[in-house]
Amino acid sequence: MTDKVTVGNVEITAVLDMVPPSREPSMMFPTTNAADWAAHQDALENGQLQLYYGVFVLKSQGKLILVDTGLGPGPHADRGNVTGNLYENLRPVLAPPDNTQNTNVSPSDEIDIVVHTHLHGDHVGWNLRYQGGMPAPTFRRARYLVPKLDWDHFTSPDVLESAPYVKLQVMPLRRLRKMDLIEGEYNITDEVSTFPTPGHTPGHQSILIKSQGQTAIIAGDVLHNKAQVQEPSWCAGVDTDKDQSTKSREALLERAERDDAIVAAGHFAPADHLGKVVTREGRRYWQGI
Ligand SMILES: [Zn+2]
Repeated sequence: MTDKVTVGNVEITAVLDMVPPSREPSMMFPTTNAADWAAHQDALENGQLQLYYGVFVLKSQGKLILVDTGLGPGPHADRGNVTGNLYENLRPVLAPPDNTQNTNVSPSDEIDIVVHTHLHGDHVGWNLRYQGGMPAPTFRRARYLVPKLDWDHFTSPDVLESAPYVKLQVMPLRRLRKMDLIEGEYNITDEVSTFPTPGHTPGHQSILIKSQGQTAIIAGDVLHNKAQVQEPSWCAGVDTDKDQSTKSREALLERAERDDAIVAAGHFAPADHLGKVVTREGRRYWQGI
């Protein structure tokens, strides 16, 4: 297990926000049943589906880029009263390499760019903090890059009604002039770019890292569980367009294998946050690194 890897000149570090309660696999993947999971017990924990809320920090060309911001500080009653710990967990990651115990480092001062794979609540939770009812960006120096198609979707009145966190953790970014809406393939640095992987949400995007002939992909919610590497047609119940989600997953897995890419999957167990897609005996599977 590793939580840090170097891809060419780019450093990728996995950081955990929190571990929510486990659930029945069919609650997450409603088209599956117990028989479907019989061959995938290694992707479950004691027969239960355990999600993790992990994010990634990229260091590229002098910029610190945070990919997603977790579920955030809580407590979250609907997630079993768990509380996000991302901000504290970022300190040792952002501390100087010769002094990782330095707890004085302020993630708010360090992060240059926050990029969102999509706008679900478990990916935007640390965007803003509130004092006296007033929002302020948690990462005060950062530009927040938001996929435009997700902004359009999640701020439409009917969706907004069922996603009140958007009003708290996303919409104030625009008023505070901290947000840029991005579309298509967007270059964050010369080595780091976004590419559309729609289906989980309309504007879902993944992150591509290319440096010195090496490749990595931050998958976002194209992947929720490593069983989907073998069963790409298994869709999370919350996917807005399941055919499109399956297509995006198949294309991403194909590309990852072809390019021998390191893939980062924040909802996998920490031991599997970074891995590769490999084929053995005619079947794809996930190999943690
Ligand atoms: Zn998610």
